[in-house]
Amino acid sequence: MCAKKIEMEEQAAARRHSAVRFDVLVIGAGPTGLACAIETERRGMRTVLVDKGCLCNSLFHYPSNMTFFTTPELLEIGNIPFPSPNQKPTRDEALEYYRKVAEHYRLDVRQYETVLRVEGSDDEFRVRVQDRFGREQSYATRKVVVATGYYDLPNYLKIPGEALPKVMHYYDAPHPYFDTDVVVIGGKNSAAIAALDLWRHGARVTLVHRGPKIHHHVKYWILPDIENRIKAGEVEAYFDSRVTAIREDSVELETPKGPKTLRNDFVFALTGYHPDFDLLTSLGVQMDNKDRCPECHGTGGVTKTRTLTIRIPTGVRSPARIGSSYIIVKRAGRVGITMSYEQVNLF
Ligand SMILES: Cc1cc2nc3c(=O)[nH]c(=O)nc-3n(C[C@H](O)[C@H](O)[C@H](O)COP(=O)(O)OP(=O)(O)OC[C@H]3O[C@@H](n4cnc5c(N)ncnc54)[C@H](O)[C@@H]3O)c2cc1C
Repeated sequence: MCAKKIEMEEQAAARRHSAVRFDVLVIGAGPTGLACAIETERRGMRTVLVDKGCLCNSLFHYPSNMTFFTTPELLEIGNIPFPSPNQKPTRDEALEYYRKVAEHYRLDVRQYETVLRVEGSDDEFRVRVQDRFGREQSYATRKVVVATGYYDLPNYLKIPGEALPKVMHYYDAPHPYFDTDVVVIGGKNSAAIAALDLWRHGARVTLVHRGPKIHHHVKYWILPDIENRIKAGEVEAYFDSRVTAIREDSVELETPKGPKTLRNDFVFALTGYHPDFDLLTSLGVQMDNKDRCPECHGTGGVTKTRTLTIRIPTGVRSPARIGSSYIIVKRAGRVGITMSYEQVNLF
């Protein structure tokens, strides 16, 4: 493409971004962000969604043959029924459903644009984004809704070898690990599901968990399955143990019986994820360890957000809470930003 054409393209992109002043910009086009945008559009507010990946990027990065824990009606948004022949829908069904909902409401979703920062104040925000080619643009908007979820940032172990290419913090599918030695680190749903899936597809699986046994949060239909595999010795398990280092061909553990080295090809460190605290604090969210925000309401699942009903009086600060809740910024100067946060402690 000739330089002139590229320049015209870039100018068109800049115009597309800056020409319009939106009423609401939603950061994150996951189920919660989509639900927020449907509600703001319904109230006649010109709304744009920005996502650093594809539509429902987090769901897209769930294990490819994952089945949701909740039933379809608990995943519905925008009063659109979620038809599924299964009692619990699959990841692909959910992606298909949210695509259809976005199409039905003709939502303006700008994919592959990462929000870097939010400048300005109530009614005059400028949201700086970067596209996948590193080009920066900005959106003008009156209000900002943050629905960035929590799945993008893994809880790193910070041990030697964690950066090796054989170490993954997200599990996708079992085939590439057939007939290999795999260590799964973690004791909650993601670790249990990955360990079972890998074992069922021919990997030699060792689960390492710092807790005394598989976590009680593991879903009732998964728990007996993984416990029985461990009892039968089909999945090896080290409890009250920690991975202290990862090498090219081995993994070092600290166990109650002393240090142990395991032959190893791949490691899945499925030790949970956390919200983008840097982005949240840059938006004025005050984090503290209190685990309950007085004004927040649990929502359970990704349904029927009431983000719009939240009034944002100035001058009152509210701690953030990790879990299924709304986080409201109540501090002078950052009025106009509403947090819509969904996290189910599955790990
Ligand atoms: C394996 C797994 C299974 C689950 N099963 C269930 C279940 O059965 N039922 C249930 O109710 N919940 C389940 N959950 C919880 C589920 O993740 C959430 O309910 C749901 O994804 C939350 O939706 P959300 O829109 O708030 O966040 P997300 O779906 O995480 O969406 C956030 C979006 O924000 C985008 N984003 C983040 N930062 C930026 C940025 N700086 N700029 C632009 N975009 C950004 C991300 O790309 C992402 O698309 C499960 C979670 C996991 C991990």
